[in-house]
Amino acid sequence: MSPPVLTTIELTSLPKLASGKVRDLYSLDDKTLLFVTTDRISAYDVIMANGVPFKGATLTQLTAHWFGVLTERIPGLKTHFLTLSPPAALSPADRELVRARSMQVRKLKVFPIEVIVRGYITGSAWKEYQKTGTVHGLAQPAGLQECSPFPEPIYTPSTKAELGQHDENISPEKAAEIVGDRYASRIEELALKVYKTAAEYARERGIIIADTKFEFGLDEETDDIVLIDEVLTPDSSRFWPADRYEAGRDQDSFDKQYLRNWLTKEGLKGKEGVAMPEQIAAATAARYKEAFKLLTGKTLEEALAQLE
Ligand code: ATP
Ligand code: MG
Repeated sequence: MSPPVLTTIELTSLPKLASGKVRDLYSLDDKTLLFVTTDRISAYDVIMANGVPFKGATLTQLTAHWFGVLTERIPGLKTHFLTLSPPAALSPADRELVRARSMQVRKLKVFPIEVIVRGYITGSAWKEYQKTGTVHGLAQPAGLQECSPFPEPIYTPSTKAELGQHDENISPEKAAEIVGDRYASRIEELALKVYKTAAEYARERGIIIADTKFEFGLDEETDDIVLIDEVLTPDSSRFWPADRYEAGRDQDSFDKQYLRNWLTKEGLKGKEGVAMPEQIAAATAARYKEAFKLLTGKTLEEALAQLE
């Protein structure tokens, strides 16, 4: 059964703790959250009025898949993931609303930086490099072409802006000031390891992960750094189809290209409250689902059929 397309979700059987651009966080107990992903989509930094079918389910199921792959391949890796099963505390109506799009996670103190890792030079990194030869203030080799790989993936953190504000690229030194020396190098090392492991896995399945954003939390009881949030989705990463990749030009991103092209063509780029035509939403959904299938080896429908 298809989950309904939902841009706002108001559960009545749990208290809401916070709401982001895409997700709503509900409190289950002191240590546990219900992490709910809506079908909202943003492009050029504004949220569309309508949603993308299956998006919340795709992001949730893909994140859960990655947590499995990563914990298997990286000994000792800790994640916030607990289960995809709905909590007993949900009313039957709420259970329907969050079906396939929610997971129970450990509630943790979030390190207030965006932990970005870049394998390829594009976006704001390419813009900076053209002007100064640096990326987030780090010197880079001369002669890199647009979208070419860095000699080694690099850690390029940014600030975590409030809703409506833009994140700001910062140097690893500045990030260390924010999170504290005690954790800075552990975060960097872990982020690079997770990116490299994921990039290799995805490359074998036809996807280049050009760059990605992680978030980390702190387990205050054990002092462990924990991988939290969504991971390695088309929303948090740039996925490029490997068979069409070519350095020296911009690449089609896997997910939002239809939507961005349409917004540009209609002169609606950056306008608030725009509704996508059904065909654009459907084409976007198809791209998210295609990435899911390539990365997990099964269709989203197959994954949903396995849920309770
Ligand atoms: P965007 O991802 O588009 O920048 P956003 O980050 O504002 O938007 P969402 O992704 O919609 O927000 O919501 C997820 C929120 O949950 C983020 O603020 C993230 O830091 C927080 N979060 C993720 N995992 C945990 C966790 N285990 N404990 C506490 N907070 C978490
Ligand atoms: Mg987020």
